[in-house]
Amino acid sequence: MPIDLERVRADTPGCADIIHLNNAGAALPPRPVTRAVIDHLEREAAIGGYEAAAEAADAVERTYESIARMLSCAPEEIAVVDSATRAWDMAFYAFDFRRGDRILTGVAEYASNYLAFLQVARKTGAVIETIPDDAFGQLDLGALEEALSSDRGPVRLIAVTHVPTNGGLVNPAAGIGRLAREHDVPFLLDACQSAGQMPLDVQTLGCTMLSATGRKFLRGPRGTGFLYIDRAWARRLEPPLIDMRAATWTALDRFELRDDARRFESWEKNVAAHIGLGVAADYAQEVGLDAIRGRVGYLATRTRTRLEASPRLLVLDKGLAKCGIVTFVHIGEEPAETRRRLSAAGINVSVSPRASTRLDMEERDLDDVVRASVHYYNTESEIERLAQVAEDRGA
Ligand SMILES: *Cc1c(COP(=O)(O)O)cnc(C)c1O
Repeated sequence: MPIDLERVRADTPGCADIIHLNNAGAALPPRPVTRAVIDHLEREAAIGGYEAAAEAADAVERTYESIARMLSCAPEEIAVVDSATRAWDMAFYAFDFRRGDRILTGVAEYASNYLAFLQVARKTGAVIETIPDDAFGQLDLGALEEALSSDRGPVRLIAVTHVPTNGGLVNPAAGIGRLAREHDVPFLLDACQSAGQMPLDVQTLGCTMLSATGRKFLRGPRGTGFLYIDRAWARRLEPPLIDMRAATWTALDRFELRDDARRFESWEKNVAAHIGLGVAADYAQEVGLDAIRGRVGYLATRTRTRLEASPRLLVLDKGLAKCGIVTFVHIGEEPAETRRRLSAAGINVSVSPRASTRLDMEERDLDDVVRASVHYYNTESEIERLAQVAEDRGA
């Protein structure tokens, strides 16, 4: 079913006033999400936070069910936390890395993940191995297969970013998942930028764990994130931090961890945001993730084609399959200045700095880049306006 553009824009109050092309930073939430958050905050103010949470127990559970439906897994395999980074960290730091253990990752890896690799490598002597890109600029599956088959040491984990923060690339996650299964290695997929802009089926992706955030393409509230973890692995991995949500103090010298994904959660949470996250996941599924991928892909291709037509602009996206993130530079202008000019014209974009995806940026000798990320509620005329303002030297 095609997307009812009029309806989704009417549901998105921000559309009336700005051209929002910073959906990879934080997308505009639809009205039902904002409404659900405010309603819950008002109940907290009216009857008390614990009482409001008890009253909203069903809505709290529905968030797990909605995310599980979106990912084709069970609600028990979902932990809701306060960011994608926290979700990813809880999974990553649960592994007991030893000297010589190999961690395989990709060129597009996100800064926070790579910082964790560096810390663990320094502390334990585990080795980080970056799988190179293929000719299209996506993770090279042949090179991954080779790394998995080599006898350099045990591969303890494959941790790869699906869609990087700095461009339109979509890494071949299902291919990575297939190899991970063949070699019986756990696979942690950072789906922070893909969740909400394309269908994600953890069975097809073949991932053991998947982390994502609420505020980006999923259009949820800030301060939300979630982790999918395969049922058997959830029981096997001990969270690096635990509290009385994760475990029960069963005797003076004993505790028992929960046996589902919620062992990776914290007791305290922003209940309003948690409920809002579920509403956002419902909303995305109602619009339809196939339809969303189709429209986002169409708009992003249109954006690239239009920007490429300008001799002053250089589009930088790599990859075979591309998604809604478009990065470019204005030749002879600092990205911060391009962003400032766009902002002055009522167009939100962001600047992706070199240090957020250092492996890729150094490999391509890139500094900061301008990032325009489209969502399904954007329009052709908004893209035309972006291109017009972006190519103007402002002289
Ligand atoms: C934004 C981003 C993250 C971090 O998400 P938070 O919710 O801010 O923790 C992780 N990975 C990628 C690829 C991202 O773009």
